[in-house]
Amino acid sequence: MIYICSDKDCYYIAERDVPLLKCPDCGGELKRVREEMLDPARLNSLGVWRMQHLKRENLEEDLKKAAACFERSYLLGNPIAAENLGLCYERGDGRERNMAVAAGLYRYAAENGNISACYRLGICYEYGIGTEKDEHLAFELFTRSAKGCDGRASLALGQCYEFGKGTGTDKRQAYLCYLSAASMGIPQAYMCLGNCCHEGVGREKSYENAFLWYQKAFSCGQNNAAILSNLGEYYLLGKGVKQDTRTGRKYLKEAVKKGSDYAMYILGQSYERGLGVKANIKTAAAWYEKAAEKNIAEACYRLALLYAEGEYLEQDMGKAKELCARAEADFTYSDNSDLEDFPELKAGVLRLLKKFRELEGR
Ligand SMILES: [Zn+2]
Repeated sequence: MIYICSDKDCYYIAERDVPLLKCPDCGGELKRVREEMLDPARLNSLGVWRMQHLKRENLEEDLKKAAACFERSYLLGNPIAAENLGLCYERGDGRERNMAVAAGLYRYAAENGNISACYRLGICYEYGIGTEKDEHLAFELFTRSAKGCDGRASLALGQCYEFGKGTGTDKRQAYLCYLSAASMGIPQAYMCLGNCCHEGVGREKSYENAFLWYQKAFSCGQNNAAILSNLGEYYLLGKGVKQDTRTGRKYLKEAVKKGSDYAMYILGQSYERGLGVKANIKTAAAWYEKAAEKNIAEACYRLALLYAEGEYLEQDMGKAKELCARAEADFTYSDNSDLEDFPELKAGVLRLLKKFRELEGR
């Protein structure tokens, strides 16, 4: 039995076996209705209600019934139901998974003023899912959705501006988009803002501010490898926060477990410099070795130095030279090619390469 609220401004709807007298939302009278009598908005609400009250033992059947509500509402012209039906096709909920159909439904919804569907359609175009790839169109859709205050779209727009996807690169605009997404509570934007402060993207560098954003991201459950590695580095080296080598190493070890290559290099640093642990160059070198295998330029350079000096590791100029060349290649070919970004590292590598050339010249 389906119950709806008799107050025309209240959209409470529920499907239940035991009768209910009062609306739990507004206290108004509830009345029983047949599903066929529902208007498009209430049909969509019934679909949402069914999605939220799925029974494990009857999952497929329940999903199909929810999708059917969205479909009937969509066929009556409801752009919100079109998006919900699109999600059913995207996730394979009550419908066979079909991204082309999903993208078509998002398109219909977006054309009829659904801001959230605008964002979803943008994602389809950004990656060419269920439709052709078109980054310019994705950028336009994200812009429209962000103007309608969709925080996910602001985040996506920030990425377009930061990396020049579908538009020219504009770091300042990227930073402002991330701020806007953060103000709408999108946790992934906190991480992006941390990186902006860390690298000086669209604003001046500030390790203090970067730390605060990373911390905020972490407290919102963003505990991926990158966040843990950043927090670990900040605590270990006392960047933007009071130095706490124990906490730093704890985060770094977690980051390594979750697959961060850079964290292996920083852990190596903690052993080389005796931060939070007794200094041990051999252990440091072992961590650098692992990070160097993943082409972390800093690790290649530190390891090259240790091989060239021959004090703690057996001297091996061939290895040192090869590692140095890899560090140099990393910032010649990667995005981090600016000399200004890594002045110390680059200067060190160049110094070492020059030394090799002098030795060979002799
Ligand atoms: Zn009500």
